[in-house]
Formats: sequence, C-alpha cells, structure tokens
Amino acid sequence: MRIADVRATTVTVPLQAPLRHGNGCHWGRFVRTIVEVETDDGLVGLGEMGGGGESSEVAFRALKPYLVGRDPQRLEELRFVIANPTASLYNNRTQILAAIEFACLDILGQAWGVPVSEILGGRLREAVPFATYLFFRYPNPQDGSGEIRNPDQLVGQARQLKDQCGFTTHKLKGGVFPPDYELECYRALAAAFPHDRLRFDPNGLWSIEEGLRFGRSIENLNNDYLEDPVYGLNGMRWLRHKLRLPLATNTVVINFEQLAANVLDLAVDVILLDTTFWGGIRPCVKAAALCEAFQLGVSVHSSGELGIQMATMLHLGAVLPNLTFAADAHYHHLQDDIIKGGRFRYESGSVRVPTHPGLGVKLDREKLAEYNELYQRLGSYPYDQDPLRPGWTPTIPNTRWADPAEVRAPKIPF
Ligand SMILES: [Mg+2]
Repeated sequence: MRIADVRATTVTVPLQAPLRHGNGCHWGRFVRTIVEVETDDGLVGLGEMGGGGESSEVAFRALKPYLVGRDPQRLEELRFVIANPTASLYNNRTQILAAIEFACLDILGQAWGVPVSEILGGRLREAVPFATYLFFRYPNPQDGSGEIRNPDQLVGQARQLKDQCGFTTHKLKGGVFPPDYELECYRALAAAFPHDRLRFDPNGLWSIEEGLRFGRSIENLNNDYLEDPVYGLNGMRWLRHKLRLPLATNTVVINFEQLAANVLDLAVDVILLDTTFWGGIRPCVKAAALCEAFQLGVSVHSSGELGIQMATMLHLGAVLPNLTFAADAHYHHLQDDIIKGGRFRYESGSVRVPTHPGLGVKLDREKLAEYNELYQRLGSYPYDQDPLRPGWTPTIPNTRWADPAEVRAPKIPF
C-alpha cells in the first residue's frame, strides 16, 4: 500500500457566538483545513488541522512530494520524514505531521477492518466524558444572541449546557477581563454547581503574583486544576510550591523534551494532551504512558476541532488508562460539522467513541463544499486579535484586560 495523493480543503464552520480568550477571539467561526490522504488501492484517510484562523492548504500541498509513494503503515518513519527535530528547525511541521498521522491511522484502520482505538491498544471505555468549556462570548453577529460577559450569563450558559449535554465538569476560559472580575465569575459557577467539578484557564497571561493571589482565592473550591495561570515552567514550578491545588498545562509541556524537564523538576501536575500539538494521536499515547510511570495526571486538550479532530480525541480518550479528568472540547460551540450524519452527540456529558473502521467518520461532501465556499467568501480571521479593540495585543504578564462594562458588540463579517 502506497500513498498516491494528498489533498487539502479549507473550510470555515460557524460557531454559536464569537469565543473570547486571552489572546484574542474566534471570530464567530473556526477555520480548519481538512486533509485527505489517498492510497494506490483507493482508501482515503482523513486528517484535520487548524491554524489560528488561517488556512494551511499550501503547507499540505508542499508536502505532497515527501509523501507520494510512501507506505502509510510506516508511522514512525513518517515522523522523521515530516518532522525530524533537527531538519525541521527551519519549518516546524509537528502540527502538519499530526494531520497526516490521523489520515494514515484512518487508512490503516480501514485496511485492517478495525477502529483506530484498537490500533492504539484497545478501548478501556466506550465513551469519553467532556467538560462544558465555557467562554466569554461576543453576541452572534447575525442575530445578537449568545453574549456571555457577566456571571449571570455565564451561569445561564453552563446550566443550559448541563441540561442539554449532561456535563458535570465546567471549565472557564479566562484571561479576558481583569482577574478579580473573572474570579467573581468563577465563584458564581462554583456556587451554582456545588457538586460539579471546575477548572479555570487564563492562557498563561498572569503575573506570578496574580497567579498566587487567584490560586489561593479558589483553593476551597472543587477544582480539578488551575490551568496555565502563568507562562513558563519556572513560573509554574514556583506557583506549584505555593498553592494547594494541582496545576495543568497545554502550553509549556507539549513535547517529550518538555515532559522530561517536567519529570526531572516538577512544575505541572496534569498534562493536557493535544493530538495536534504533540504531532498525532500516537505521541499522546506515548506521553500518557510516561505520565503514568511518573504518576502525573493527563487529560485531553482541545485546540478547536471539527468532527475529524474530535474523532482523534475520542480514540485517544478511549485508550488512556490514566484519563481521570473530563476532556476539553470546543465542539459544542459549533453550529454544524463536515462529517456525515452531522455533529457527534453528547449523552450524560460523554461522547461515544466511533467503532467503525479507521477514525470512524466520513466526509459529508456537500457540507465540505458549503463551508469551503463560506471560507472562500470570508477568508481567514486573526485569532490573536480582539475585533472590538483594533491595535490591541496582550503582553505576558498581561495588564491590558478587556472592560467587562463594555456593551458594544464588534462588527464581524458573516
Ligand atoms: Mg489551556
């Protein structure tokens, strides 16, 4: 079996409302590049990649000469073909490798008649639990709905999602407003759901002192962990010694070098594994095994996904013995998907792991064309910009917070 073709199609799929985060905003939609790897015997494997609101089509096209003629079963070799750590110093391709790995695993699963979870070691669970993943949101640019800017709106959204999807863990993405205001919001969630689990993530934007102050203020709540309060292993290590709650990261332990550094001098308790950031599903399984050996916690990170990437997160979540936390996904903020049968459904806070061969998802060609057309019309968006504050950029540590009293809504093309 040989790779015969690689195709990439960029789509943009609407969100219920623009999602605000410490570095900017998802401007009411995700931009994702869908990758198809076709073999000489006619199998098509699916991959997916984001790019901070940008298309990655060119990068995948440039990879075609590397891939055509290669055996998709040689996944370890693929790592060195695409992302050799010294050769790719000039063109970091880890995330591209991830999308190709997804597609190759999808091909192998189809060729062998097994779901990807069985290639990875076999399912330990049939469904993966997820957290609400709450964001501060601008109103939907089309109909003005869905704004989340204050504690009442936030708790209302959490309650609605809990009713709809059955979530019992609530994650709040912060780093948008001044920390004291976000503390008030987080406490409102804790008060509204006293029996549920909580987690908070300001995207590493606080100073050490702010992290210490906020962390100490929430020690009495039902926290899973505090995620990336500050940026950098040294800052995390310093805080970890001062706080009585676990720290988690998806920013400073995202490869094996950093994981080794964290094991040798502990800075982070829980490693949030991202199938894209780590370069594929298999590196995440390997990293989870190291975490198991050193008794670090793991969870599944979301970098904004459509159904193909969601499938990779489900297969990963299914096979990790040490997955003791609910996974994160932006997925429930989407209005639609590009996979056949529509969006994955939540039952009791969980999503069932696909059991069809490969990743277990197929492209809905009409949806792919529809959202490719939408991408052609709207183009990319600057993920690291706030549409209401042109010229703004956050620093680390940040002091340039948004104003929670600001009632204007940005004009966002749709
Ligand atoms: Mg995070």
